[in-house]
Amino acid sequence: MSSDTPAPEPRSLHFIEEIVEADRASGKHGGRVLTRFPPEPNGYLHIGHAKSICLNFGLAKAYGGATNLRFDDTNPVKEDVEYVDSIREDVQWLGFEWKGEHYASDYFQFMYDYAEYLIEQGKAYVCDLTEAEIREYRGNFHVPGKASPYRERSADENLDLFRRMKAGEFEDGAKVLRAKIDMQAGNMNLRDPLMYRIRRAHHHRTGDAWCIYPMYDYAHGVSDAIETITHSICTLEFSDHRPLYDWFLEQDGEATFFQRPLPRQIEFARLNLTYTVMSKRRLLQLVQDGIVSGWDDPRMPTICGLRRRGYTPESVRAFAERVGVAKRDMVADVGLLEFCIREDLEKRAPRRMAVLRPLKVVITNMGDADAFEVEVANHPEDQAMGTRKLPFTRELFIDQDDFREEAPKKWFRLAPGAEVRLRGACLVTCKEVIKDAAGHVVELRCEWDPASKGGNAPDGRKVKGTLHWVSAPNAVKAEVRLYDTLFTQEDPMDVPEGQDWKALLNPGSLEVLTEARLEPSLAGATAGERFQFERTGYFSLDPDSRLGALVFNRTVGLKDSWSKIEAKQ
Ligand code: ATP
Ligand code: MG
Repeated sequence: MSSDTPAPEPRSLHFIEEIVEADRASGKHGGRVLTRFPPEPNGYLHIGHAKSICLNFGLAKAYGGATNLRFDDTNPVKEDVEYVDSIREDVQWLGFEWKGEHYASDYFQFMYDYAEYLIEQGKAYVCDLTEAEIREYRGNFHVPGKASPYRERSADENLDLFRRMKAGEFEDGAKVLRAKIDMQAGNMNLRDPLMYRIRRAHHHRTGDAWCIYPMYDYAHGVSDAIETITHSICTLEFSDHRPLYDWFLEQDGEATFFQRPLPRQIEFARLNLTYTVMSKRRLLQLVQDGIVSGWDDPRMPTICGLRRRGYTPESVRAFAERVGVAKRDMVADVGLLEFCIREDLEKRAPRRMAVLRPLKVVITNMGDADAFEVEVANHPEDQAMGTRKLPFTRELFIDQDDFREEAPKKWFRLAPGAEVRLRGACLVTCKEVIKDAAGHVVELRCEWDPASKGGNAPDGRKVKGTLHWVSAPNAVKAEVRLYDTLFTQEDPMDVPEGQDWKALLNPGSLEVLTEARLEPSLAGATAGERFQFERTGYFSLDPDSRLGALVFNRTVGLKDSWSKIEAKQ
């Protein structure tokens, strides 16, 4: 973590830290802490994963331990190397280094051997029921389970059938391997859960070597135990699976498949964010339906989307720290995420002047020869960031938002007859408003006070409004993309029966301004570079930019003081 990140506020330990501290105090695992982040490579990581990454890596780091990156690649149908690469990149970008890089598929042989062992011990059997029959036999919370007619097959028969499943003698779906636990268990997960199914699918790492694949509940705990993970942190929906997690690992009995003590599963609350969807399945749908430009569309809650939007890793980590670790599911306000990036960029983003919707200003009492250079600070509070020089010329652009033909109360910006300060340059007064045939204001004729060069008049008269501006002949033209939330409703999943969640998409989530004018120094900006455009927000150069055709993304706006005043009026 970079040294300029302020230490988080001191806080009390969260419940997972308490568990780890107790384990260290009792000498369990010899004081060792080894966590893992186990993504399934079936999509890009999102801000919820970032929470899990920060928790796993942060915990290990705090206790002198380490974290493995494990790709949970047991379902070949939905997985892809594209996702593996993006996950590695995103974890690194967040600022974390993993100890081992592992793939659940590397353990397929081990898992298979352990499954044979469980069969030999009479703890697993091959079942020929169909998927629907298995569901029916399993019952539900009120209906007791019924034993499968195949439950009492002998170990020898099971072993033979399982080997033939692996050899490819049976059709997909014809047989499964099930753990033999308890068909009457109150916890549905223990009613003889599936361990293996037959699926002829090409795996992105093991190719066609296997036609049977292990189920998540079996594969996950076994992978943790192989890696000698100490604390296996997952989200709350796995609470009911914990007895199964433990069961699979505890059955190795006399055989020493797994090192003791076994890993412990600990669940914490999944993170959700307002005004967006989070599940990979839904995000994939947005990508496939062309609703967004890709996984890294700056409106997406994905890590690559946030990166492209201009978020810093520090801000995402600060957000993860602030939302905390809860035992109940929570929805974080997207405003908190925005607060974190503003707080970070406020300190580190150099200031620049850029006019998003240009309105031409001509200073009628200024000749071309009166043009001058102004020197402005790159950061008002950080002198070390230096200064830069900007040309001030007779023809300028200001933002359309900074002019009102009829000025409301407390309007300190430009209006007919009003005087304002052009940041760092001088005072100007609006003398005349030029309109086109349709009545739109196209130009303001102003006069400057030459004695106010530098920003203030010698007579000390009060001029409250200060506007940003760019020199018209020197400005760099650019495209600017402004973003709003993807959905119009805080919880887009909360839709009435029969209505599609996509009906709640925000049609105004992207606004493209093609006529923006930037101060000349921005011509040399590089992709990913971040700036504060004075008075309009924080911006970052989009990778779509080409020489002479810059594209800036607004990461987040500044807190807009005028809209607050207006709201009160
Ligand atoms: P999704 O439901 O979004 O597709 P997932 O749980 O299927 O996510 P995995 O790749 O299995 O995604 O997740 C990797 C790790 O990240 C898991 O340990 C999972 O618990 C954790 N994780 C996923 N989503 C969240 C979330 N919203 N908040 C916190 N942790 C999460
Ligand atoms: Mg998953």
